[in-house]
Amino acid sequence: MLENVKVVKFGGSSLADAEHFKMVEQIVLAEPERRYVVPSAPGKRFPADTKVTDMLYECYHMASKGDNIDEAFDKIAERYRLIIDGLGIDLDLTKEFENIKAAFTHHAGRDYAASRGEYLNGIILAKLLGFDFIDAASVICFADDGTFDSETTDKILNSELKKHYRAVVPGFYGSMPNGTIKTFSRGGSDITGSIVARAARASLYENWTDVSGFLMADPRIVENPKGIDNITYHELRELAYMGATVLHEDSIFPVRAAKIPINIRNTNSPEDKGTMIVPNGSDIPDEKNVITGVAGKKGFSVLNIEKAHMNAEVGFGRRVLTAIENEGVTFEHLPSGIDTMSVVLSGDITSDQRSRIMNAICASCLPEYIGFEDGLALLAVVGRGMVNNKGTASRVITAIAEAGINIRMIDQGSSEINIIIGVDDKDFENALRAIYNEFVK
Ligand code: ASP
Repeated sequence: MLENVKVVKFGGSSLADAEHFKMVEQIVLAEPERRYVVPSAPGKRFPADTKVTDMLYECYHMASKGDNIDEAFDKIAERYRLIIDGLGIDLDLTKEFENIKAAFTHHAGRDYAASRGEYLNGIILAKLLGFDFIDAASVICFADDGTFDSETTDKILNSELKKHYRAVVPGFYGSMPNGTIKTFSRGGSDITGSIVARAARASLYENWTDVSGFLMADPRIVENPKGIDNITYHELRELAYMGATVLHEDSIFPVRAAKIPINIRNTNSPEDKGTMIVPNGSDIPDEKNVITGVAGKKGFSVLNIEKAHMNAEVGFGRRVLTAIENEGVTFEHLPSGIDTMSVVLSGDITSDQRSRIMNAICASCLPEYIGFEDGLALLAVVGRGMVNNKGTASRVITAIAEAGINIRMIDQGSSEINIIIGVDDKDFENALRAIYNEFVK
């Protein structure tokens, strides 16, 4: 059993240049518990810059077309050389660059190409910190079909970590049984960090990025919103689904299952406490705010269906949902009345899919009315403080009404930690501000 271990993951902006590497070094060495480090590839140094991962994808694309990659590859190598020179460490990656370039020209695979960003950054960081380097290809396991194999990984990684008191494990990739390199989806180093935290039986997963945690609302809509000190995994899922992104969605699952908290921290402002994401609300002190955050998205479509006595017709809902399922479309919400049913769908279904869904429902349900309505925005008001707190829904509704906005839909999840409100796309920003101002003083 590894005692009181912290796993620390650094995002691309935290490792974009030598200056940031030095900040990362200070952070890691400040606490002896920070024993396992998961780096991303170098990110943007300034807004118009290109992430190394994107440079690798582009370079590999050129190689696969048979174009000359000398210049494109050298630009990538130059990013690493600048970091090494700026750090003044004794490390020569010439051989690695030669091997990687040769693999590109032999078409080693797009995932292999992208993974080299993290791989090379891991080698540099391990050298800087004096930590061991563990190649993620040997410990992060994907199945033959390309899906992540969590149980095999946990076994292999747990026993490997026990052999290294301190180590760097590059993020974003692993390998399949035949040795082929496979990556997670973009931003996937967050997932590796979470997997390493679980395998290390860590007490905390610190995720260092370029913001001081989550905010209660999108700062592009609400001016200077308050930060969130504590949030549960469940609340985070609700907010993340509605577009509040700092962490890769899938990174929550490994640590959530192992009940390990995540702390979002800011590399550029390490004194900030950031946001703590915890398994249960009972793990954190009560806070004054009833709501933890409000988020939302525009552009949903609603399929409205009406038929007298639909509530008495056995299998009506199933037939409606089957028609949608047969088009490979997922539904978001299902608010219903006695003789009406609405299915909220993401707005990106094609007009062909719409016609087929409507035809199928007409044939199987014989509705009196069926039609699509576009331009619905959904707002999720999320907070563990709403459970058993009387009057929250009425405050939400009153705040929106007082802002002169018509509500098109209301839905409260069974866990009572979220209320979903649907308004016209054009009212989205004002509704969000009205809710924020009602609850956050
Ligand atoms: N470097 C990868 C990307 O840009 C993975 C990550 O940064 O988490 O998506």
